[in-house]
Amino acid sequence: MIYINDTGAQYETIKDDISRVTQAVMERSYFVLGENVAAFEHELAAYCGTQYAVGVANGTDAIALACRALGIGQGDEVLTSTHTATFSALGISMVGATPTFADIEADTGNIDPAKIEAAITPRTKAIMPVHLYGQMADMDPIVEIGRKHGIPVIEDSAQAHGATYRGRKAGSIGVLGCFSFYPTKNLGAYGDAGALVTNDPQLAEVLHELRNGGQRTRYDHVRVGVNSRIDELQAAILRVKLPHLDEWNRARRKNAQRYDEMLRITNVPVQPVAIREYGETCMHLYVIRVRTEDRDPLIAHLTENGIAAMIHYPVPVHLSKAYSFLGLAEGSFPEAESMAREIITLPMYAELTETQAQTVVDVVAAYYTMGIGARG
Ligand SMILES: *Cc1c(COP(=O)(O)O)cnc(C)c1O
Repeated sequence: MIYINDTGAQYETIKDDISRVTQAVMERSYFVLGENVAAFEHELAAYCGTQYAVGVANGTDAIALACRALGIGQGDEVLTSTHTATFSALGISMVGATPTFADIEADTGNIDPAKIEAAITPRTKAIMPVHLYGQMADMDPIVEIGRKHGIPVIEDSAQAHGATYRGRKAGSIGVLGCFSFYPTKNLGAYGDAGALVTNDPQLAEVLHELRNGGQRTRYDHVRVGVNSRIDELQAAILRVKLPHLDEWNRARRKNAQRYDEMLRITNVPVQPVAIREYGETCMHLYVIRVRTEDRDPLIAHLTENGIAAMIHYPVPVHLSKAYSFLGLAEGSFPEAESMAREIITLPMYAELTETQAQTVVDVVAAYYTMGIGARG
């Protein structure tokens, strides 16, 4: 079986360090918001090139807390992408605000800067591009639109740990950057965890208070906060992994180049998601586009041959049942809707071997050459 992610293969490479640091946490017996969290925040900020980082319980909370810290709530809108994990929109909904959308670029799947301005209304209080599949959205025009309209930019960087845009790291360009450390992300904890990064000292202070019940110091509740704390075990694990992130991202990019080349040689009608020259993707997911009629049969063929394949994401947020109340009918965002019908995610992780990649490509090619394909 070749998995989409193989967190077990990664664990084998860092096992001893993980055992050492988790045991140390247990022996010290201090479990929530301790020295590992403080050190991890410091190290993450340094890595991202920001002044501050604030650890929280998960990536969805990071988005909700970004909105909260910016004073966004009921009656406000946050403009984001509809082709994303629904959790992007849920973070916005958590503060009572409404997600609104602009369509995507057909080739990258990222929000299309050219479509953002038309979607801005007097209620729009933030623009939140999602750096999809590990590739950053085209930030220069997005930041420029934000500046022109006086609207802050929040980066949903949950898939973009270590990705860059014109030399700047994901999360460091907007007013706030939101990270998830869900186990299968490029930087993953062994459970749920998340963080925000920022250069704004006031926002950092507010976020430190918000995540811990709104307390400035113990029992001094200065605002109505939440419990979105990050624990010492996850922080200790993330501190082991962070120094490996660049090397893991390099391996992912190399694996993607291999896939690109192998697929090109087979000459089958499969198109990898486009990668722009303006930065470096961290290749969170390797996604290909196929003809709509081939998509589901090809996934079935891969599965039958021991290769995990998935769809990220099969339903655009605006067409989900949860967001049907927005009243956005099919046809509202045609590029996102057609992408959702044509994409397949293939296995991608640092430890994926050349042999495994070749097996995946051979199975994809066999679908077409053996005449299993809808148009064989
Ligand atoms: C994973 C993810 C989230 C949510 O993060 P959690 O830690 O699972 O809450 C939000 N946005 C995107 C784009 C994601 O991939």
